Amino acid sequence: MMVTLVGVLASCTLVPFVLYRLVSEDYLVATVDLLLISTCTLSVKWAWRTGDTERPGLMMALAFCIGAVTVVYKLGSDALYWIYPLMVFLFFLVAPLKALWLLLSMLTAIALLYLSNQSHIFASAFQFVVFIATTLITCVFAYIFAYRTHVQRNELRTLATIDPLTGARNRHHLSDELSGAMQRYRTSGNDSGLMLLDLDHFKSINDQYGHQTGDQILAQLIPLLRQMLRQQDQIYRYGGEEFVILVQGIQLADLHQLAEKIRHGIWQQLTLPDEKTITTSIGIACTSQARDWPHWLQLADQALYQAKHQGRNKVMLAENTVTT
Ligand code: GH3
Ligand code: MG
Ligand code: MG
Repeated sequence: MMVTLVGVLASCTLVPFVLYRLVSEDYLVATVDLLLISTCTLSVKWAWRTGDTERPGLMMALAFCIGAVTVVYKLGSDALYWIYPLMVFLFFLVAPLKALWLLLSMLTAIALLYLSNQSHIFASAFQFVVFIATTLITCVFAYIFAYRTHVQRNELRTLATIDPLTGARNRHHLSDELSGAMQRYRTSGNDSGLMLLDLDHFKSINDQYGHQTGDQILAQLIPLLRQMLRQQDQIYRYGGEEFVILVQGIQLADLHQLAEKIRHGIWQQLTLPDEKTITTSIGIACTSQARDWPHWLQLADQALYQAKHQGRNKVMLAENTVTT
């Protein structure tokens, strides 16, 4: 976690300076340094407790910017060197654009302090100009670097979680989501539904029309499913032509109705090049029927097996064997 790394590094770096300032009786700077260390500790604790890194990161970034202006105002050009590492590590704490705005505000504050003659921060006007030029260049490069990393991280996340052919999620986070839904049911009694959906006779569709047509059908399936689902319902590609749909906050009867609508929709709207229809079999189960998430999935799988066994193009409910 970047907040922790920056927090610990910054605190360790500051401790010797606090001691030095105390010895040299510069109590204002010592207090600022101590406040910064406390903010680091609080932010790291906050981040660990809530799992949220955004707000603790922003708090730490703000504290360091204000601290930097105060220390530069008090110590003058001695403290200017600290601005450079600060400009880099701010990008570790908050999103690139936020870090850029914070830094520009901080530099503006320092410039205004100097120009209003309230402080002898710079030895000469030339030093001031060099400081502004070098800090701006550093800001711009740090921003570009952070922005590229940000974009690449988002691309990597998409590559790791989204199936490229269909646009459905892959199985990567399925177990987390299922166990999360199971947990919500246990704590709040909020039931969730699972559909396991498998296209019928897909092997012979591939054989008859070619693998490429098969791929096209799979690519058309997800937008069609999305039309029939709510925004928050999640679709996962579970296997080749097998999909899991997770519907949060639904009872078995409504889930059954929704599954029938989906079965019907696919039957009516997903067609082969020669207008022949494609059908699907669906097994459904609710959290209230299951012991844990693997069991939940197993119940839906057994129901799907029944749907196939009974002639396909069917929705089957998991048998209510387990109630705990
Ligand atoms: P059933 O009604 O019993 O489900 O019959 P099925 O032919 O669909 O049988 P099964 O589910 O076992 O076979 C799945 C077939 O789906 C096997 C494979 O040829 C095909 N398939 C799996 N992934 C893909 C894919 O990404 N693209 C294409 N075109 N076909 C796929
Ligand atoms: Mg199949
Ligand atoms: Mg299959």
